[in-house]
Amino acid sequence: MSFSTLGLHADVLSVLDTLGYQTPTPIQLAAIPEVLAGHDVMAGAQTGTGKTAAFALPLIQRHIERALSDSGQPKAIRVLVLTPTRELAQQVHKSFVKYSQGSDLNAVVAYGGASINPQIDALNEGCDVLVATPGRLLELTMKQLIDLNTVETLVLDEADRMLDMGFIIDIERILKRLPETRQTLFFSATFNDEVFTLSKTLLREPKLIEV
Ligand code: AMP
Repeated sequence: MSFSTLGLHADVLSVLDTLGYQTPTPIQLAAIPEVLAGHDVMAGAQTGTGKTAAFALPLIQRHIERALSDSGQPKAIRVLVLTPTRELAQQVHKSFVKYSQGSDLNAVVAYGGASINPQIDALNEGCDVLVATPGRLLELTMKQLIDLNTVETLVLDEADRMLDMGFIIDIERILKRLPETRQTLFFSATFNDEVFTLSKTLLREPKLIEV
């Protein structure tokens, strides 16, 4: 199996070629077509499986297609990725930057424990994809510095760790600020009752992926 069979755009395939990615990993094989088709996804995947590219590549492709069809639209946060830690937020942000090279996609990262001002400056330059930890994201929304009404896709990365770290209340607050009609992609390394309960409140007819 190759990336070209998954329905990815030539620009995305060319980045993968530059990076030397030849074969999609199992989670990429399963998730990329479902994300491209607009489905919700619930995926069991550990770090190191290539899960970041599994959601980033099809979302970048959607951005490229939109840019081709309606140039001139102002930038807006279309994708929101929530992560439990600053380290994961930085890593996911770096992946979006790497995989979207050559396109005009702007990915911004926001996390707590660091000065908020540079993050606000980055947001003000225009943001298509925001990668954030829950607390800092709420701070930005409460200060009315960002509008989440334009979000089309919500990604929860390492949902189990987010619950372990006690982010459930923050997540619920964030959900209230998101459009109800959206695509949601839910990634978790482990599944217990609490993870299933959260997934049920978030997902609509999800495609289940286990690798
Ligand atoms: P992740 O599980 O998303 O943290 O990715 C693990 C590592 O695998 C990262 O360093 C990626 O750059 C790399 N990677 C992801 N997908 C592929 C692929 N299809 N071929 C080669 N390397 C990959």
